[in-house]
Amino acid sequence: MYTQGDLLYEGKAKKIYSVNDNEDLVWLEYKDSLTAFNALKKGSFDGKGLVNAQITALIYDHFEKQGIQTHIVKIQSPRDHICERLKMIDLEVVVRNTLAGSTAKKFQIEEGTALEKPLLEFFYKKDELQDPFISDDQALMLKTVEKQSHLDEIKLKALKVNDVLFELMDKSGIRLIDFKIEFGWSKDGKIVLGDEVTPDSCRLWEKGSDEKLDKDRFRRDLGKVEESYQKVLKSLKENI
Ligand code: UDP
Repeated sequence: MYTQGDLLYEGKAKKIYSVNDNEDLVWLEYKDSLTAFNALKKGSFDGKGLVNAQITALIYDHFEKQGIQTHIVKIQSPRDHICERLKMIDLEVVVRNTLAGSTAKKFQIEEGTALEKPLLEFFYKKDELQDPFISDDQALMLKTVEKQSHLDEIKLKALKVNDVLFELMDKSGIRLIDFKIEFGWSKDGKIVLGDEVTPDSCRLWEKGSDEKLDKDRFRRDLGKVEESYQKVLKSLKENI
């Protein structure tokens, strides 16, 4: 039985607590808040933490079954996960199947343009710098990891996540447009998937209608934010 210790860190979407008498674990509580544009825009809805915690739990369980190691150790409650304590790598790893968001804007390519192969990008996780895009060499210069082989391993893992997640979403009637994931080092020196996979961190469009079912509804004031997140959870539950 795990018991919650001190609050270690409060992020934009989750609170991280220690776990009493176990230094190797952390307690992740999903919050109801929603933020966008580096927290310049703030919002929330009741039950948002609950829905996102459940979505991550379902997806990470599926990942484990497909051979992708994740940080989740135990689902403590629908909103709380007991996770391996990872030393997080300061990279946001974005994989895109269809162009949208920052890269579409940067190159003035129409949102919704299909990509011939998945596009992987690194962003430096640094709020003060607004998480800038970085090259492999810049990632090494910034010492996010020690060696190119670590970046190569992260890329391979992220592309495997894309394959598995794309198929899962597809089965659930959802197009996986793009997503952001984060990795960390486990105590035994492995690169493990941490953080979350939710409509906050993915672009998800309903197959057929292309209706947005993700945080763009909040970013772009499209309404029906809660309804869309619930729709993603329901579709996953029915198809996983
Ligand atoms: N994303 C995220 N956190 C960030 C930035 C991006 O989860 O701090 C996700 C975003 O929801 C989208 C993907 O990463 O699914 C690619 O985002 P993009 O680079 O297009 O940036 P945005 O348009 O969201 O600013």
